[in-house]
Parts: sequence; structure tokens; C-alpha cells
Amino acid sequence: MTIGILKETQQGETRVAIPPKIAKQLIDKGFKIVVEEGAGEKASFKDSDYREAGAKIEIRGVVFKEADVLLKINPFNQEDLKLVDESHVLISQLFHKSHPELMKALASKGVSAFSLDAMPRISRAQDMDVLSSQSNLAGYKAVIRGAYEMTKIFPLMMTAAGTITPARVLVYGVGVAGLQAIATAKRLGAIVEATDIRPETKEQTESLGAKFIVVEDDEPTEASVYAKVASEEYQRRQKEAVNESLFKADLVITTAMVPGRKSPVLITNEQVEKMKNGAVIIDLAAAQGGNCEASRMNETILMNGVRIIGTTIAPESVSTNASELFGKNLFNFLEHLIEEGKFKWELDEEITDGTLIVHKGTVRKNGNTE
Ligand code: NAD
Repeated sequence: MTIGILKETQQGETRVAIPPKIAKQLIDKGFKIVVEEGAGEKASFKDSDYREAGAKIEIRGVVFKEADVLLKINPFNQEDLKLVDESHVLISQLFHKSHPELMKALASKGVSAFSLDAMPRISRAQDMDVLSSQSNLAGYKAVIRGAYEMTKIFPLMMTAAGTITPARVLVYGVGVAGLQAIATAKRLGAIVEATDIRPETKEQTESLGAKFIVVEDDEPTEASVYAKVASEEYQRRQKEAVNESLFKADLVITTAMVPGRKSPVLITNEQVEKMKNGAVIIDLAAAQGGNCEASRMNETILMNGVRIIGTTIAPESVSTNASELFGKNLFNFLEHLIEEGKFKWELDEEITDGTLIVHKGTVRKNGNTE
């Protein structure tokens, strides 16, 4: 079976779906690999690295022609569709719920298409979960960006010229990105506090040496539920419990999201008015509407001396590591789907069922019917 690795064409994208090291591992498993020329360039992988790994480098058209399976990070687009046919299996993030038209277009080509962002959140799928691997890096990079934007340093520093007190960092949302943000800020020497609607995150926060801000909830989230929409009463109590820390914070990182919904507004303009002059808010939920009332995606808003930065901190900014983790997730996914060089097509199996959006020309799941 030949796997084709395509160069990403989406603006700003710097990652590649499979780095040379993973290409080698796939070749060792018996796959042939054909890589579009320059595919790894922006992630610091040269064509010669792929060749050394045993892969072939070809122009785009040839990759489509030779490959049975085509791999990308971003959704296949209209330009790609001109080159695919029913012999292809496509694997990428598809964000199918937001792109029902694309799913129909894929189906009209007779292909089968798996969406990596539809990976079920079950333990055995953890090592195939690109959303988690990429969020983890985003959490790290959010702290680094914050450190760069702040006018203070993170650690306690005792010098002959005086003592510098440690920075105070507050994290909203202790999911994958939030946990990594807590760990990174702690390593840099900050005093870190965090809050989340899921009670089990208290222990996770404390295990990293940070303080958890408890918000009493009349209807606690079950451990099996990742996130729910917070009630108005919960939001009121949350503000009450968190405000003291918010008004003292030098850096606030917000990561609170509810899958498939607009992100909850956790910091209003009124609260920002009471924050410290010079404080920085990095709103990682900005693409889903933002956790901060004032935040706008890809913009820095200055309000009362507080800088509110709306960003996804795309893992593109650490493209080498992001590609390595994405590639390992894909490797594990391919191992799960393929046996002795053939797709198993176990349509009832949870991971296959969750991720196989278009099968042999039929849309199985499309944003309208789910
Ligand atoms: P996410 O990005 O959807 O949300 C981030 C966090 O925001 C979550 O912890 C959520 O509880 C929190 N949140 C939502 N609304 C809030 C509010 N009003 N106030 C405060 N906090 C709020 O979540 P995520 O990072 O993708 O994952 C969440 C959890 O799921 C993590 O524990 C992660 O380990 C787990 N997970 C497991 C798997 C798997 O088992 N395969 C895969 C992905 C995630």
C-alpha cells in the first residue's frame, strides 16, 4: 500500500502530517511512502531527510496518482478534489460538522474519508488523538507568548538591587491545553492558580503544584462528561470565587471550551476594568467566540491597561514538534485501521465508526444529521 504525504496549502500552516522519522517507521512496516516535494520544509524537514528515510519525493500530481492513502493535516479542499478518485482513502482533519458541503463533494468523488478531529474520546484512542497532542503544545506556547508580552518576569528573584516577586498566573479550563499551561508556568517559577467546571481537575491541578479554585456546583459534572454548559448560577459563583485571583493576576490563560458550542464568556469587560495595569490575557478559546467578552480572534485589544490577545496559538508556531506528534498519532491510527496491507473497514468498531465520515462515496455523518 502506498501512502502519499501532501504539502499543506492552507495559509499560515507550517506543519506536515508525517515527519521523516515516522515515514521510516511506516516503511519498516511494509508501506511505500511518496512525499510531495517541499512538504516538510516549513517544519524543518528536508526532502533529503525523507529520501534518507526511504521515501520517494514527487510533484503533487504524481503523489495523487501513486498513492492509495492520502494524508494531510487540514481538510482536503476543492483543488485536492480535482485530483482524487474512488481509489483513494483520505485522512485529515475534516471538521465535518462545519463543512457538510465538502463532505458531499468528497462523496461525489467516490472516496472514503476519515476525519482525525472526530476521534472518540476513549482511552484506547488517546494515542491517535491529534486534538490532544496539538492542544498540549498550544498550552505550552500560550505561556511562552504570555511571558514575551508581559512586562514582568516569572520567578522570584533576590538580587542586590532588591527582590522581584513571582508573577501570578491564572488558568481557566484545566483540559489538555490548560494542564500544560499550568505545568509550564510552574516550571518558569510563577504562582499558578486554576479553575474548571469538572471537579476531577482539582487533583490534576494540585498534582502540578498549583492551587485549584473550587466553584460550588449544584449539579456537578459526572466524571464521564468532558464539559457541560455552565448554569448562570454557576457562572455567578465562579466570578465570586475567581475574582480575587483574577484582579491580582499578571497573566491569565483561558482555555475553557464546550465541544460543538460557543465558548463560555468567563471574563467580562467589567471584570477587566478591575484587573492589574499591565496584565495580559491569552484567550485560547477566541476562535470559538472567546472566554473573554472583549477578545477578538487574531487581535490584541487594549482595555484599561490590560492586553487581551485572542489566538488559538496554533501549533504551527512549533511546527517541528507539532508535526512529530501529529505524525505519531497518524501512525497509530493507520496501525489501527490496516491489517496486512489492507483496510479492515470494521464499521461497527468505535474508532472507525467515529472517524469514517465518508465511505465509498456515501456520507455516513454530516453536520446536518448528527
Ligand atoms: P476542551 O478543550 O473542550 O475544554 C477545556 C476545558 O475547559 C475542559 O477541561 C472543560 O471542562 C473546561 N470548561 C468548559 N466550560 C467551562 C466553564 N464554564 N468554566 C470552567 N471551565 C470550563 O477540553 P480538552 O482539553 O480537549 O479535554 C478535556 C478532558 O478530556 C481532559 O481531561 C482530557 O484529558 C480528556 N480527553 C481525553 C481523551 C481520550 O481519552 N482519548 C481525548 C481528549 C481529551
